[in-house]
Amino acid sequence: MGLWRQLRWRIIAAHMLVVIVGVLTLIVTAETLAARSVDPVLLPVFQSAVIQALVVAALAATIVGLATSILLVREILRPLQQLAASSRRIAGGNYDERVTAPLTDELREVAQSFNQMAETLAQVEHQRVTLIGNVAHELRTPLAGLEGYLEGLLDGVLPGDPETISAMQHEVRRLRKLVDDLQHLSRVEAGQVTIQPHHFDVVALVNRIVAHLRPQLIEQCLQVAIEAPEKEALAYADPDRTAQVLVNLIGNAIRYTPEDRCITIRVRCDPTHVQVVVEDTGIGIPAEALPYLFERFYRVDPSRSRASGGSGIGLTIARHLARAMGGEITAASPGIGKGSVFTLILPRGEIAS
Ligand code: ADP
Repeated sequence: MGLWRQLRWRIIAAHMLVVIVGVLTLIVTAETLAARSVDPVLLPVFQSAVIQALVVAALAATIVGLATSILLVREILRPLQQLAASSRRIAGGNYDERVTAPLTDELREVAQSFNQMAETLAQVEHQRVTLIGNVAHELRTPLAGLEGYLEGLLDGVLPGDPETISAMQHEVRRLRKLVDDLQHLSRVEAGQVTIQPHHFDVVALVNRIVAHLRPQLIEQCLQVAIEAPEKEALAYADPDRTAQVLVNLIGNAIRYTPEDRCITIRVRCDPTHVQVVVEDTGIGIPAEALPYLFERFYRVDPSRSRASGGSGIGLTIARHLARAMGGEITAASPGIGKGSVFTLILPRGEIAS
């Protein structure tokens, strides 16, 4: 029973079955025809000739059948064995493992799918390792700051005055923000953030956010212009998540625009979408950085954005949220020092007639 479960013996048995059935059919047919049409005197001679011919044919068929089954078995089993061995190596953590493409179409397709799966696993593993490295790196900066203050206090180099305590509080806040952002990111990436879409007016939301950010704008002497259609611009999305995305985009525009310049927020509608364009006249983004802006922890100038409290995951979260609402975020910039344009696209809400 054990042998019968093996593909190789099944293939060999199938070939041999064909040979046996062929020979038996020939014997029966030859006997029947001979009994009907051969002279009874010549019958024994004819039968002996037929049997000799059948023995030779059966031998030849058996040899060829065996040879072809062995070749076929090798052709099928070798790639399957290779796949099994490679799967075991991948399961053991060797994500660079790939299999060579066999000659037959069907097996080649299996091998290609396997290699694709291995590639995806390798990428996931790479992202996991990078993520751990990035998180460790991000945590190290505020922790080193705190450690420095504590050592200064213990050695008596720093006075225990409100200024030092406030500086330490600043580092703790950075840590807290980073941990909150990370938690948010993991929930967004796992698709655990609930989106509750409604019809709402994007212009009213933009006005509310700008009013909320007014103190920051005044502090940095930044002008804000809002250009919006006369009528309301209805979107069908989650207003709270949209606000979160816009706060990130406008917050970035404020952070990366020098004093006394301006930020323009345009709300536009087309038949299917509502667009919110946040355009600043700030430091701009080099063309080679644009494709990476939405990747986790990516910063064009790490020291600058870290100093201003940026964790480099705001845009990653924003894009996930925009996509979860059926929208998108894009970024563009004419170059360094020439400002940036971020566009949030949301599905358009139905206008009640
Ligand atoms: P951060 O919290 O560091 O700002 P984000 O994910 O929001 O993280 O942004 C990622 C990076 O994109 C920033 O570090 C910055 O280099 C760049 N960036 C984002 N918005 C702007 C902008 N309006 N102008 C220039 N650079 C920007």
